[in-house]
Amino acid sequence: MLAKSVAKDAEEILLATDMIELGARLQVLQAETSLSYDRLARLYREIRGCSPPKGMLPFSVDWFMTWLPNIHSSLFYGVYKFLDTHTPAKKAHALIEAYRLYLEQAITDPRNASDDPVLSFTRAWMLVRFFDSGMLQQSRCVSCAGEFVAHAHDPQHGFTCAICRPPPRAGKTRARQAAACVS
Ligand SMILES: [Zn+2]
Repeated sequence: MLAKSVAKDAEEILLATDMIELGARLQVLQAETSLSYDRLARLYREIRGCSPPKGMLPFSVDWFMTWLPNIHSSLFYGVYKFLDTHTPAKKAHALIEAYRLYLEQAITDPRNASDDPVLSFTRAWMLVRFFDSGMLQQSRCVSCAGEFVAHAHDPQHGFTCAICRPPPRAGKTRARQAAACVS
């Protein structure tokens, strides 16, 4: 019994360590392990050399719908779903593996290695939670056949993704400037 609980402890510390190294917030660690707040906070300080940030998690679903975050989130979620479905890595382990693969894909320019990725580990975790609670779905793009993060119950028919139809930002800015000149 004791050996079992020690093994479980060690496994959870390894899991928490992996997640802290990838940038997880303390709330994520509390949700994914049964370790106490004090132990997690101590572990966090040991690994990152600073206290864990306080405050609420970024919980907005709409963030995942904005242009660049949507592309990054869709890439990440596709990898996560594949790992969770087809490999022995499940749930938190699939999340960690998928996030490592995402980082390899997202940060390809070594000069930008210090840049923060668009999708943080904590956001990636939130994304999976939103899918699990039925707030998000994957919609297939009619143009490229890729699967993209979308609001649950959004019409799937005729969906075009953020890559195939980028926002007409330049045009919009010009239109606004023109309007400003007129008024
Ligand atoms: Zn597309």
